[in-house]
Amino acid sequence: MKNILVTGGAGYIGSHCVKRLTDDGYRVTVLDNLDIGHRAAVENASAGKAQFVQADLRDTELVTKALRDNAIEGVIHFAALAQVGESVQYPLRYYDNNTAGSVSLLRAMDAAGVKRIVFSSTCATYGEPASMPITEDMPQIPINPYGWSKLMTERALTDYANASEGFGFAALRYFNVAGSDPNGIIGEDHNPESHIIPVVLNCALGKVPKMKIFGDDYDTPDGTCIRDYIHVNDLVDAHVVVMNALNDGDQRFYNLGTGTGSTVMQIIEAGREVTGHAIPAEMGPRRPGDPPMLYADPSKIKNELGWQAKCTDIKQMVADAWTWFKNNPDGYRDK
Ligand code: UDP
Repeated sequence: MKNILVTGGAGYIGSHCVKRLTDDGYRVTVLDNLDIGHRAAVENASAGKAQFVQADLRDTELVTKALRDNAIEGVIHFAALAQVGESVQYPLRYYDNNTAGSVSLLRAMDAAGVKRIVFSSTCATYGEPASMPITEDMPQIPINPYGWSKLMTERALTDYANASEGFGFAALRYFNVAGSDPNGIIGEDHNPESHIIPVVLNCALGKVPKMKIFGDDYDTPDGTCIRDYIHVNDLVDAHVVVMNALNDGDQRFYNLGTGTGSTVMQIIEAGREVTGHAIPAEMGPRRPGDPPMLYADPSKIKNELGWQAKCTDIKQMVADAWTWFKNNPDGYRDK
Protein backbone atom coordinates (compact mmCIF):
# COMPACT_ATOMS: atom_id res chain seq x y z
CA MET A 1 0.00 0.00 0.00
CA LYS A 2 1.43 3.33 -1.05
CA ASN A 3 -1.30 5.97 -1.35
CA ILE A 4 -2.90 6.92 1.96
CA LEU A 5 -5.56 9.49 2.82
CA VAL A 6 -5.20 10.99 6.29
CA THR A 7 -8.35 12.75 7.46
CA GLY A 8 -7.71 15.33 10.16
CA GLY A 9 -4.06 15.38 9.11
CA ALA A 10 -3.75 19.05 10.13
CA GLY A 11 -4.52 18.18 13.76
CA TYR A 12 -2.28 17.11 16.63
CA ILE A 13 -2.33 13.35 16.14
CA GLY A 14 -3.04 13.45 12.40
CA SER A 15 0.01 15.63 11.70
CA HIS A 16 2.23 13.18 13.56
CA CYS A 17 0.86 10.42 11.35
CA VAL A 18 1.51 12.53 8.24
CA LYS A 19 5.12 12.96 9.34
CA ARG A 20 5.60 9.27 9.95
CA LEU A 21 4.02 8.27 6.64
CA THR A 22 5.93 10.80 4.53
CA ASP A 23 9.18 9.88 6.34
CA ASP A 24 8.47 6.26 5.37
CA GLY A 25 7.92 7.16 1.72
CA TYR A 26 4.14 6.84 1.48
CA ARG A 27 2.25 9.19 -0.84
CA VAL A 28 0.08 11.10 1.61
CA THR A 29 -3.05 13.10 0.93
CA VAL A 30 -4.42 15.11 3.84
CA LEU A 31 -8.07 16.00 4.03
CA ASP A 32 -9.01 18.54 6.69
CA ASN A 33 -11.63 21.29 6.98
CA LEU A 34 -9.19 23.38 9.11
CA ASP A 35 -11.90 24.12 11.70
CA ILE A 36 -9.46 23.00 14.36
CA GLY A 37 -6.42 21.92 12.38
CA HIS A 38 -3.53 24.03 11.14
CA ARG A 39 -2.32 24.20 7.56
CA ALA A 40 1.22 24.77 8.83
CA ALA A 41 1.08 21.47 10.70
CA VAL A 42 0.77 19.63 7.38
CA GLU A 43 3.66 21.59 5.86
CA ASN A 44 5.90 21.08 8.89
CA ALA A 45 4.99 17.41 9.20
CA SER A 46 5.62 16.50 5.57
CA ALA A 47 8.23 19.10 4.57
CA GLY A 48 5.73 20.16 1.93
CA LYS A 49 5.44 16.64 0.49
CA ALA A 50 1.83 15.85 1.44
CA GLN A 51 -1.01 16.74 -0.89
CA PHE A 52 -3.53 18.94 0.94
CA VAL A 53 -7.27 19.01 0.27
CA GLN A 54 -9.34 21.43 2.30
CA ALA A 55 -12.72 19.74 2.55
CA ASP A 56 -15.31 18.72 5.06
CA LEU A 57 -15.91 14.99 5.47
CA ARG A 58 -19.62 15.56 5.07
CA ASP A 59 -19.02 16.72 1.49
CA THR A 60 -19.23 13.18 0.12
CA GLU A 61 -18.65 14.21 -3.48
CA LEU A 62 -15.47 16.14 -2.75
CA VAL A 63 -14.15 13.33 -0.59
CA THR A 64 -14.91 10.79 -3.33
CA LYS A 65 -13.02 12.97 -5.79
CA ALA A 66 -10.02 13.22 -3.43
CA LEU A 67 -9.98 9.42 -3.08
CA ARG A 68 -10.17 8.87 -6.84
CA ASP A 69 -7.78 11.66 -7.89
CA ASN A 70 -5.08 10.36 -5.58
CA ALA A 71 -5.67 6.62 -6.20
CA ILE A 72 -6.10 6.13 -2.46
CA GLU A 73 -5.69 2.57 -1.20
CA GLY A 74 -6.20 3.12 2.51
CA VAL A 75 -7.66 5.76 4.83
CA ILE A 76 -6.48 6.70 8.31
CA HIS A 77 -9.37 8.58 9.81
CA PHE A 78 -8.54 11.06 12.60
CA ALA A 79 -10.83 13.98 11.75
CA ALA A 80 -13.19 14.58 14.68
CA LEU A 81 -14.20 16.86 17.47
CA ALA A 82 -12.81 15.52 20.72
CA GLN A 83 -13.80 17.58 23.73
CA VAL A 84 -15.99 15.76 26.17
CA GLY A 85 -17.42 18.86 27.85
CA GLU A 86 -18.28 20.49 24.53
CA SER A 87 -19.99 17.29 23.40
CA VAL A 88 -22.34 17.47 26.39
CA GLN A 89 -23.17 21.10 25.58
CA TYR A 90 -23.46 20.69 21.80
CA PRO A 91 -24.24 17.02 21.16
CA LEU A 92 -25.49 17.55 17.62
CA ARG A 93 -22.12 18.96 16.58
CA TYR A 94 -20.58 15.68 17.66
CA TYR A 95 -23.10 13.40 15.97
CA ASP A 96 -22.85 15.54 12.85
CA ASN A 97 -19.05 15.95 12.65
CA ASN A 98 -17.98 12.62 14.05
CA THR A 99 -20.74 10.15 13.21
CA ALA A 100 -22.33 11.65 10.10
CA GLY A 101 -18.87 12.74 8.89
CA SER A 102 -17.62 9.15 9.17
CA VAL A 103 -20.70 7.77 7.41
CA SER A 104 -20.11 10.24 4.59
CA LEU A 105 -16.46 9.12 4.41
CA LEU A 106 -17.61 5.49 4.16
CA ARG A 107 -20.01 6.40 1.39
CA ALA A 108 -17.17 8.10 -0.46
CA MET A 109 -14.93 5.06 0.05
CA ASP A 110 -17.74 2.86 -1.20
CA ALA A 111 -18.13 5.00 -4.33
CA ALA A 112 -14.37 5.08 -4.98
CA GLY A 113 -13.82 1.39 -4.14
CA VAL A 114 -11.42 2.01 -1.23
CA LYS A 115 -11.42 -1.06 1.04
CA ARG A 116 -9.20 -0.25 4.03
CA ILE A 117 -9.65 2.13 6.94
CA VAL A 118 -8.08 2.61 10.35
CA PHE A 119 -10.38 4.61 12.58
CA SER A 120 -9.55 6.72 15.67
CA SER A 121 -11.79 5.47 18.40
CA THR A 122 -11.48 6.09 22.09
CA CYS A 123 -11.51 4.54 25.54
CA ALA A 124 -14.45 6.90 26.14
CA THR A 125 -16.57 4.25 24.39
CA TYR A 126 -16.19 2.11 27.54
CA GLY A 127 -17.76 4.72 29.80
CA GLU A 128 -17.05 3.77 33.42
CA PRO A 129 -15.90 0.15 33.36
CA ALA A 130 -16.50 -1.94 36.46
CA SER A 131 -12.84 -3.02 36.70
CA MET A 132 -9.34 -2.17 35.48
CA PRO A 133 -7.43 -2.73 33.25
CA ILE A 134 -9.81 -2.32 30.35
CA THR A 135 -9.96 -5.13 27.79
CA GLU A 136 -11.56 -4.78 24.36
CA ASP A 137 -14.42 -7.15 25.19
CA MET A 138 -15.70 -5.07 28.11
CA PRO A 139 -19.15 -3.50 27.72
CA GLN A 140 -19.19 -0.24 25.78
CA ILE A 141 -21.56 2.15 27.50
CA PRO A 142 -20.34 5.71 26.91
CA ILE A 143 -21.24 8.41 29.40
CA ASN A 144 -21.11 11.39 27.02
CA PRO A 145 -22.03 12.26 23.42
CA TYR A 146 -18.36 12.24 22.36
CA GLY A 147 -18.05 8.58 23.35
CA TRP A 148 -21.39 7.75 21.71
CA SER A 149 -20.43 9.52 18.49
CA LYS A 150 -17.34 7.29 18.26
CA LEU A 151 -19.13 4.11 19.30
CA MET A 152 -21.81 4.72 16.69
CA THR A 153 -19.05 5.02 14.10
CA GLU A 154 -17.59 1.69 15.24
CA ARG A 155 -21.09 0.24 14.71
CA ALA A 156 -21.46 1.81 11.26
CA LEU A 157 -18.05 0.39 10.28
CA THR A 158 -19.05 -3.07 11.47
CA ASP A 159 -22.40 -3.08 9.68
CA TYR A 160 -20.85 -1.73 6.50
CA ALA A 161 -18.03 -4.30 6.68
CA ASN A 162 -20.60 -7.10 7.09
CA ALA A 163 -22.30 -5.97 3.90
CA SER A 164 -19.21 -5.22 1.85
CA GLU A 165 -17.03 -7.83 0.16
CA GLY A 166 -13.29 -7.37 0.65
CA PHE A 167 -13.54 -4.51 3.14
CA GLY A 168 -11.20 -4.49 6.15
CA PHE A 169 -11.10 -2.05 9.06
CA ALA A 170 -9.64 -1.45 12.48
CA ALA A 171 -10.95 0.78 15.25
CA LEU A 172 -8.20 1.87 17.62
CA ARG A 173 -9.38 2.91 21.07
CA TYR A 174 -6.98 5.53 22.32
CA PHE A 175 -6.21 6.19 25.94
CA ASN A 176 -4.57 9.57 26.77
CA VAL A 177 -2.33 10.70 23.92
CA ALA A 178 0.72 12.71 24.97
CA GLY A 179 4.04 14.15 23.83
CA SER A 180 5.21 15.42 20.46
CA ASP A 181 7.71 14.51 17.84
CA PRO A 182 11.13 15.33 19.37
CA ASN A 183 11.93 17.55 16.35
CA GLY A 184 9.75 20.23 18.00
CA ILE A 185 8.09 21.49 14.81
CA ILE A 186 4.72 19.78 15.20
CA GLY A 187 2.69 19.55 18.36
CA GLU A 188 -0.49 20.22 20.25
CA ASP A 189 -2.14 23.56 19.50
CA HIS A 190 -5.73 23.65 20.74
CA ASN A 191 -7.76 26.67 21.62
CA PRO A 192 -9.14 26.42 24.25
CA GLU A 193 -6.76 23.89 25.78
CA SER A 194 -8.05 21.63 28.53
CA HIS A 195 -5.76 18.61 28.56
CA ILE A 196 -3.50 18.15 31.52
CA ILE A 197 -0.03 18.08 29.91
CA PRO A 198 -0.56 21.20 27.74
CA VAL A 199 -2.11 22.97 30.75
CA VAL A 200 0.96 22.12 32.86
CA LEU A 201 3.30 23.35 30.10
CA ASN A 202 1.29 26.52 29.49
CA CYS A 203 1.68 27.13 33.21
CA ALA A 204 5.45 26.66 32.86
CA LEU A 205 5.37 29.24 30.05
CA GLY A 206 3.49 31.66 32.31
CA LYS A 207 0.46 31.65 29.99
CA VAL A 208 -1.65 30.10 32.74
CA PRO A 209 -0.81 31.72 36.09
CA LYS A 210 -1.97 28.80 38.21
CA MET A 211 -3.46 25.46 37.29
CA LYS A 212 -6.16 23.54 39.08
CA ILE A 213 -6.04 19.92 40.13
CA PHE A 214 -9.50 18.50 39.67
CA GLY A 215 -9.90 16.60 42.91
CA ASP A 216 -7.48 14.91 45.32
CA ASP A 217 -9.93 12.72 47.19
CA TYR A 218 -10.07 9.81 44.77
CA ASP A 219 -9.23 6.30 45.87
CA THR A 220 -5.76 6.36 44.26
CA PRO A 221 -2.28 6.43 45.89
CA ASP A 222 -2.05 10.27 45.95
CA GLY A 223 -5.77 10.98 45.68
CA THR A 224 -5.63 12.34 42.09
CA CYS A 225 -6.96 10.64 38.96
CA ILE A 226 -4.99 8.02 37.07
CA ARG A 227 -4.81 7.94 33.27
CA ASP A 228 -2.87 5.81 30.80
CA TYR A 229 -0.69 8.16 28.69
CA ILE A 230 0.67 6.95 25.35
CA HIS A 231 3.28 8.80 23.30
CA VAL A 232 1.81 10.19 20.08
CA ASN A 233 4.62 8.66 17.99
CA ASP A 234 3.90 5.22 19.47
CA LEU A 235 0.23 5.78 18.70
CA VAL A 236 0.85 6.60 15.03
CA ASP A 237 3.27 3.68 14.76
CA ALA A 238 0.39 1.41 15.76
CA HIS A 239 -1.73 2.88 12.94
CA VAL A 240 0.89 2.07 10.33
CA VAL A 241 1.38 -1.47 11.66
CA VAL A 242 -2.37 -2.10 11.80
CA MET A 243 -3.03 -0.63 8.35
CA ASN A 244 -0.44 -2.95 6.83
CA ALA A 245 -1.83 -5.96 8.69
CA LEU A 246 -5.42 -5.50 7.47
CA ASN A 247 -6.85 -8.22 5.28
CA ASP A 248 -10.14 -8.59 3.42
CA GLY A 249 -12.96 -9.09 5.91
CA ASP A 250 -10.98 -7.92 8.97
CA GLN A 251 -12.84 -6.19 11.77
CA ARG A 252 -10.21 -5.41 14.36
CA PHE A 253 -10.59 -3.53 17.65
CA TYR A 254 -7.55 -2.65 19.74
CA ASN A 255 -6.83 -0.60 22.82
CA LEU A 256 -3.86 1.73 22.45
CA GLY A 257 -2.27 2.44 25.80
CA THR A 258 0.81 1.42 27.76
CA GLY A 259 -1.03 -0.51 30.46
CA THR A 260 0.28 1.67 33.26
CA GLY A 261 -1.17 4.84 34.65
CA SER A 262 0.10 8.15 35.99
CA THR A 263 -1.66 10.38 38.49
CA VAL A 264 -2.32 14.08 37.94
CA MET A 265 0.27 14.83 40.64
CA GLN A 266 2.88 12.74 38.82
CA ILE A 267 2.23 14.71 35.64
CA ILE A 268 2.70 18.01 37.45
CA GLU A 269 5.89 16.72 39.11
CA ALA A 270 7.19 15.57 35.71
CA GLY A 271 6.37 19.06 34.35
CA ARG A 272 8.33 20.69 37.18
CA GLU A 273 11.35 18.45 36.64
CA VAL A 274 11.38 18.76 32.87
CA THR A 275 10.83 22.53 32.66
CA GLY A 276 12.52 23.71 35.84
CA HIS A 277 9.50 25.95 36.45
CA ALA A 278 7.50 25.94 39.69
CA ILE A 279 4.10 25.27 38.05
CA PRO A 280 1.80 26.64 40.75
CA ALA A 281 -1.14 24.29 41.24
CA GLU A 282 -4.10 24.57 43.54
CA MET A 283 -6.58 21.97 44.59
CA GLY A 284 -10.03 22.31 43.07
CA PRO A 285 -13.20 20.25 43.10
CA ARG A 286 -13.62 17.10 41.04
CA ARG A 287 -14.46 17.64 37.37
CA PRO A 288 -17.86 16.13 36.65
CA GLY A 289 -17.66 12.89 34.65
CA ASP A 290 -14.02 12.09 35.51
CA PRO A 291 -13.59 8.39 36.34
CA PRO A 292 -10.98 7.90 39.13
CA MET A 293 -8.79 5.67 36.97
CA LEU A 294 -8.60 4.47 33.41
CA TYR A 295 -5.89 2.26 32.04
CA ALA A 296 -5.67 -0.19 29.21
CA ASP A 297 -4.94 -3.84 28.96
CA PRO A 298 -2.81 -3.46 25.80
CA SER A 299 -2.14 -7.20 25.37
CA LYS A 300 -4.53 -7.89 22.47
CA ILE A 301 -2.56 -5.89 19.90
CA LYS A 302 0.67 -7.30 21.31
CA ASN A 303 -0.55 -10.89 21.03
CA GLU A 304 -2.06 -10.48 17.57
CA LEU A 305 0.42 -8.12 15.87
CA GLY A 306 3.44 -8.09 18.19
CA TRP A 307 3.01 -4.35 18.73
CA GLN A 308 3.54 -2.48 21.98
CA ALA A 309 4.30 1.09 22.99
CA LYS A 310 8.04 1.78 23.23
CA CYS A 311 7.83 4.83 25.50
CA THR A 312 6.46 4.10 28.96
CA ASP A 313 8.21 6.98 30.72
CA ILE A 314 5.81 9.82 31.45
CA LYS A 315 8.75 12.20 31.96
CA GLN A 316 9.92 11.51 28.41
CA MET A 317 6.43 12.24 27.06
CA VAL A 318 6.28 15.53 28.98
CA ALA A 319 9.84 16.38 27.84
CA ASP A 320 8.96 15.84 24.18
CA ALA A 321 5.80 17.93 24.55
CA TRP A 322 7.91 20.63 26.22
CA THR A 323 10.24 20.82 23.21
CA TRP A 324 7.25 21.84 21.07
CA PHE A 325 5.76 24.25 23.64
CA LYS A 326 9.09 25.92 24.38
CA ASN A 327 9.86 26.39 20.67
CA ASN A 328 6.33 27.49 19.77
CA PRO A 329 4.81 29.33 22.74
CA ASP A 330 2.16 30.79 20.43
CA GLY A 331 1.47 27.55 18.59
CA TYR A 332 1.24 27.69 14.81
CA ARG A 333 0.34 31.42 14.95
CA ASP A 334 -2.40 30.99 12.35
CA LYS A 335 -5.46 31.50 14.52
N1 UDP B 1 -6.88 17.56 34.98
C1 UDP B 1 -6.61 18.43 36.03
N2 UDP B 1 -6.45 19.77 35.73
C2 UDP B 1 -6.53 20.27 34.46
C3 UDP B 1 -6.80 19.36 33.40
C4 UDP B 1 -6.97 18.01 33.69
O1 UDP B 1 -6.53 18.04 37.18
O2 UDP B 1 -6.40 21.49 34.27
C5 UDP B 1 -7.06 16.12 35.26
C6 UDP B 1 -8.41 15.57 34.87
O3 UDP B 1 -9.34 15.75 35.92
C7 UDP B 1 -8.11 14.10 34.59
C8 UDP B 1 -6.66 14.13 34.10
O4 UDP B 1 -6.13 15.40 34.48
O5 UDP B 1 -8.13 13.38 35.81
C9 UDP B 1 -6.57 14.01 32.58
O6 UDP B 1 -7.46 14.96 32.00
P1 UDP B 1 -7.42 15.34 30.47
O7 UDP B 1 -8.45 16.41 30.26
O8 UDP B 1 -6.02 15.64 30.06
O9 UDP B 1 -7.83 14.00 29.71
P2 UDP B 1 -9.12 13.04 29.85
O10 UDP B 1 -8.65 11.87 30.67
O11 UDP B 1 -10.23 13.81 30.49
O12 UDP B 1 -9.40 12.66 28.45
